[in-house]
Amino acid sequence: MDYDPDNIFAKILSGEIPSTRVYEDDDTLAFMDIMPRADGHLLVIPKTPCRNVLDASPEQLAAVMATVQKLARAAKVAFQADGITIQQFNEAAGGQEVFHLHVHVLPRHEGVSLRAPGQMGDFDLIAQHAEKIRAALT
Ligand code: 5GP
Repeated sequence: MDYDPDNIFAKILSGEIPSTRVYEDDDTLAFMDIMPRADGHLLVIPKTPCRNVLDASPEQLAAVMATVQKLARAAKVAFQADGITIQQFNEAAGGQEVFHLHVHVLPRHEGVSLRAPGQMGDFDLIAQHAEKIRAALT
């Protein structure tokens, strides 16, 4: 399957669609998931196009995972989390809904399940959570 340059994360990268950004470098962007399954749920994407792990270059994967580690550590501190769940889906049959490579970073607490998918988060709360993560990065 070819990369669709009109996918929603490409539009977030270009700024055509707003997002709550928490971190970026030359190669990657991290922003809050709009339907958070846990407080602090964020996504890390490469700035260059690829659908998922199946067509990504080793360089794209390395850059994304370095940022995932950075954000996972910051989110663990920011939310005093007991652990971090990392999720990544490939193609529709693999659970992928947006076809620009992305990795989910989810702070977790003992005994607390993830919320059901597809529930829109509260914008102000997501902004507050983003600020906590930003503060933990510095
Ligand atoms: P996946 O493709 O990994 O199954 O899921 C895509 C993820 O992107 C979901 O967790 C969903 O909540 C999130 N998402 C979908 N559309 C938007 C959007 O417009 N903005 C943001 N920030 N997240 C989105």
